[in-house]
Amino acid sequence: MMHWQVVVVGAGPVGGRIATELAKRKISVLLLEEHNEIGRPFQCAGLVNPPAMERVNLEESILTTVDGAHIHSPSGIMIPVGEDGVPRTHVVCRKRFDQGVVRQALEAGAELFLESKPLDAYLDDGLMKLVVDKNGEEVNVECDLLIGADGAHSWTRRHFKMGRPKEMMVGFQADVTGLKGPDNWLEMYTGEEVAPGFFAWVIPCGDGNHRIGVWSTPDCLEGRSVEGLYETLIHHPQWKERFSGMKEISKYCGPVPCGLIRRPFKDRVMVIGDAAGMAKPTTGGGIGPGFSQVDSIIDNLYLAIINNKLSQRNLAKVCKPYSSLKRDQDKARALRNLLITTPSDDELNSHFEMFSRPEILDLINSIGEIEHPVPLGMTLLRRVPEFRMLALKAGFRLLFA
Ligand SMILES: Cc1cc2nc3c(=O)[nH]c(=O)nc-3n(C[C@H](O)[C@H](O)[C@H](O)COP(=O)(O)OP(=O)(O)OC[C@H]3O[C@@H](n4cnc5c(N)ncnc54)[C@H](O)[C@@H]3O)c2cc1C
Repeated sequence: MMHWQVVVVGAGPVGGRIATELAKRKISVLLLEEHNEIGRPFQCAGLVNPPAMERVNLEESILTTVDGAHIHSPSGIMIPVGEDGVPRTHVVCRKRFDQGVVRQALEAGAELFLESKPLDAYLDDGLMKLVVDKNGEEVNVECDLLIGADGAHSWTRRHFKMGRPKEMMVGFQADVTGLKGPDNWLEMYTGEEVAPGFFAWVIPCGDGNHRIGVWSTPDCLEGRSVEGLYETLIHHPQWKERFSGMKEISKYCGPVPCGLIRRPFKDRVMVIGDAAGMAKPTTGGGIGPGFSQVDSIIDNLYLAIINNKLSQRNLAKVCKPYSSLKRDQDKARALRNLLITTPSDDELNSHFEMFSRPEILDLINSIGEIEHPVPLGMTLLRRVPEFRMLALKAGFRLLFA
């Protein structure tokens, strides 16, 4: 029986990050990754904002840096948010990024089993015992703490019956060449036909390549597929000129779990990142929020591990900072619903007319932050008279819950 203090299931960015922080503190860590290489396959637009990038310093994975977004209303009103020369977010090669994060964990002392996944896990004699499929062979592993960082459909979360994230969005993306446009501005498209309740994106990723994607929920899709929405966007009479002449290189589809589960821990087990439902309801981004989740608990988690205090009650104390992350996530979802998800196309067009007023645009550009959209949303609701009425109608007080 091989023993580690911590076994992390899933060598994605969040698994790699928590393994690094634990290994740096001299905790023995084993990472299990079901694929035979890190960072493949991936389903991601590759946006990593500057604070998340600063935590890992993987600038070599950056393909381009984005200074702003051109956001289009259903009828074609365009709002430019951002300023040339002021970086808002980076676009990374996910393979290089994930490999860099996991390399940092290995350099800090963690071990990695590729082509390995748990078949069973159970508590026995004060330890978590695992049966692992390692390159087709069954091996027994034991640890003090099991961490599931195994993504949206987490085996760990399902095995230990920890519930489901509140929302599970579906994202679709195509990598294309041949689109024109500046390399430092991304585009967003809204409207019932192309992205019901959410938005579609066009993201430059250097060397004339772009990622075109769309995300939505099964409820908003009403039987349509996200790939169908993408086809509608690129052939839409209003937008088809923009997409003419491009060539598709690859297409993929994936889940985006938004809504931190109520108890992402049990005795000697916890889940983190997408496995816990950490992605942002406003953008679908999960890397920055997953890194913040790691930062919020790492010091107390380290103490809990070295003192072998890893019961559900002890882990609930370690995970206390999650309540403020969850509150922010709930507020962001409420604001998103109010401003983007529930309005009809006509209402969205009138929101965009308000957004395009110079004084509102100044406000958006001065307070707007991709990683923290709540302060901007709140300010808009308070300061723009038309939004104040909307907020009251939708139960503004809920936002302060
Ligand atoms: C279309 C689309 C676009 C997106 N764009 C962005 C974006 O621009 N920016 C952003 O921040 N986020 C984006 N996301 C979300 C982002 O991809 C995730 O939030 C992020 O990858 C979560 O990291 P993670 O480490 O928690 O999980 P994952 O990246 O899913 O990593 C989980 C790892 O666990 C492994 N694994 C799974 N099950 C097992 C098992 N049983 N045993 C062993 N290993 C296992 C997987 O192979 C994987 O390596 C997007 C998602 C989609 C679908």
